[in-house]
Parts: sequence; C-alpha cells; structure tokens
Amino acid sequence: MACKCEPLGPIILGSNNLQTILSAAIVREKSVTTIHKDGLMDFIQSIIFNKPELKEPFYVLDMGVVVSLMDMWTRNLPSICPFYAVKCNPEPAFLGAMAALGAGFDCASQVEIETILSLGVSPDRIIYANPCKAESHIKYAASVGVNLTTFDSKEEVEKIRKHHPKCALLIRIKVDDSDAKWPLGVKFGALPEEFEPLLLAARTAKLAVCGVSFHVGSIVTDSCTYQAAIAAAKTVFDMAIRLGMPQMRMLNIGGGFTVAPQFEGSATIIKSALQEYFQNESGLTIIAEPGRFFAETPFTLVATIIGKRVRGEFREYWINDGVYGSLNYLLFDHASVDLMPLACTSNSGNPTCQGSRTYVSTVFGPTCDAIDTIVRGHQLPELQVNDWLVFKNMGAYTIAVGSNFNGFRASATKTHLAYSNQSNCRDL
Ligand SMILES: *Cc1c(COP(=O)(O)O)cnc(C)c1O
Repeated sequence: MACKCEPLGPIILGSNNLQTILSAAIVREKSVTTIHKDGLMDFIQSIIFNKPELKEPFYVLDMGVVVSLMDMWTRNLPSICPFYAVKCNPEPAFLGAMAALGAGFDCASQVEIETILSLGVSPDRIIYANPCKAESHIKYAASVGVNLTTFDSKEEVEKIRKHHPKCALLIRIKVDDSDAKWPLGVKFGALPEEFEPLLLAARTAKLAVCGVSFHVGSIVTDSCTYQAAIAAAKTVFDMAIRLGMPQMRMLNIGGGFTVAPQFEGSATIIKSALQEYFQNESGLTIIAEPGRFFAETPFTLVATIIGKRVRGEFREYWINDGVYGSLNYLLFDHASVDLMPLACTSNSGNPTCQGSRTYVSTVFGPTCDAIDTIVRGHQLPELQVNDWLVFKNMGAYTIAVGSNFNGFRASATKTHLAYSNQSNCRDL
C-alpha cells in the first residue's frame, strides 16, 4: 500500500483551479486577491498604499503560478507523482495549495510530518525521505501510519526494525551529483559495493525493500545525470531479483528540477531513460521529490529600504531582509539576484523608476555583520528611506533557512496571497 501512488490527472488551467485553491486547507481561512497575469507589481503597490504604516518585509505568493507549475509537471511527466519536498519552503498556504492540487509530500522530520497531516493529507501520501532519522521520529512515523522511508546504512535498518517494522523501505543510492550546484551525495546514498549487504540486512530484519531512490543534487545543469541515475537504479532492481527478494515496485527519482527551459529537457531525458531501463517492470510506481521546481517562482519578496548613505557618486542602502533572513542563498550560491526598485514613497508618480538616472549601488542586509551584503556595484535609481526593493523567484530555500540573528525575525515575515490567471485566453 505504501508502494503505490495514483498518477495525477491533467490540470486544466482556468477557474476550476481557482475554486480548488480557494477551498484548500489554510488558504480557505485567508484572503486571496485575484490579479491579472502581469499584475504582480500593481498588487504589491496596492499592499503598500493600503497600509502606509507597513514597514516590514513581506512575501507575495501567487498561487496561479503554482497551478501552472503543476500543469507543466503533469504535461511533461504524467506518470510520475510529485512528492513536494517540504524543506524547500513550508509556507502553510503553499502546502495547502499543493495538497489540494494532489501532490504528495517528502518530509524529513517529525515536525514536517505533523505539518502535512494537519492539512488533512493522508499518511500514505507522505514519504519520510530522510535516510538518517532519530529513533523518536521513527516511532512517531509508526504511530501516525507513515509507512514509507529511505535508508542507506545498516544502522538505519536496525532502528526501523525496532521501532517501525511495518515500514516499507527505499534504498537511497549515491549517484553522480558533481554537476549539481548543491550536491547531496557527500552526505547521503549507498555506494555500489554496499547495495547487496544493505538489501541482505533488510531481509534479515524482515523489512520490505520496495524500491530505490536517489537525488541528483539541487540545480542540475546537465539532465543526463538523471539518465545515469536511472540506469544505476535498474541494477539494484536486478540485484533484488538475483538475491531472491520480492520484485521491487517503486522508483523515486528525487528532486533537482528547475523550471523551464531545463525542465522540459530533463523530462524528455527521464522519460527515455525510463523507457530504456524500466519498460519491462510491471506494476511500477514512479515518484519524484521536487522542491525548488514548485517553490521558487511563485514567491516574491518585498523589502523596505531602512537606511541610506551617499558617498560621492556611490549609493549604499540598508534593507530589512538579508543573508541571515530570506537571502541566505547568496552565501552559498553566487546566483545573481533579480531585484527591482519600487520607489512608492519618493517617486510615487513613477514608482518603478522607468528612465531614471542610475547610480552604482550597494545593498546591505539589516544585521551588524559585514557579510550581510546583498549586491555590490548594482545600478539602481536614486532611492530614499521607506522606498522598497522587490526580489522575484524567492521561494526556494529562502525563508525556510532564515534565522533570527541580531533580532531580525525571518520567521515573522508575512505572506500575502494572490491568484493570477496564467492562461492568456480565459478570464477569471
Ligand atoms: C532537498 C531534497 C529534495 C528537494 O530537492 P530540490 O533540488 O529542491 O528539488 C528532494 N529529496 C530529498 C531527499 C531532499 O533532501
């Protein structure tokens, strides 16, 4: 039972999805503003104008984008059930929307499992995908009927035997993740010479190993990585047969997906690799654990300029979010930030500062650590204290990783909910 998952039906873009989202857990208790496809900046300005006393950073979550991502997923990978990786962004309304759209969930801890169950999601739509779990968390999973997990060590087999003998297992294998921006293989995944001893240890413990999982690392640029990983998974399926164990029934291809244009290329490679290696496996369930794919683009961060310094031609600004808050990925990942000025206070006639003269500017976060710097040498128009900066595509590993360092509480950042109609041809 834990090794089955019904593929999702196609998502039809349109007003039905709006109803689905509005009645989702958590979302139904909140107010959702419907906006036009390109109406995000107007919506942000309306939030700022309606609450002039508002000076805290905030997020906008556009659930129309979530719907269109689910549509993109089911069109490209129709037979693969997405189990959204909660760690990437556990914003409650976002989780509620994902649940309403039919996703399963990848949880890594007791609190994540509790959060998902509290949305009314059935425990068989949860995979406890942390290969190394605390015993108390395993007992909790057993008590609530989360019966599918991953492992990559004999010690884990022993803990699961003791505390959750009904749990079905996926063996997490290490795959080549040298191409990923954030590799995970240094920490997780069994090595080829460990596959057989691990399968035998599970058999001795009378635990069912129902399949294989892997993670190619976060942000893969070469989609062929998936092909090699799927080929490696097939060798484990064959090994189970050779060892006289029950046929494996589940393949978990993990996360690592980014939005278009790479996504479609990855999907094509995955489908052809599945065709090549798994076409003869009957009754196979295939799942994935996308995090970034669903969370990155629906979220926009809006931060206030709280300080300014002019040094000749240079401008320096301080804003109320930074690398100890939502922008922590800047410390690890030298990705460029997508930032736009919103001079609602100093230039309300032209808040986006179209055509304004720009200055070489540095933007700092609010803490007293000098590393808390967001951009240097960036061209920005002349802005003033109480103007705003808008950061797009801010949902993946941002607020989820933020701390309360120096008393700036990332976890207190409020999220406003919007729903944009992403299809061009239909009105809401
Ligand atoms: C973090 C993680 C994911 C999500 O990875 P993305 O690159 O965000 O898609 C999926 N599975 C596991 C086990 C993870 O640890």
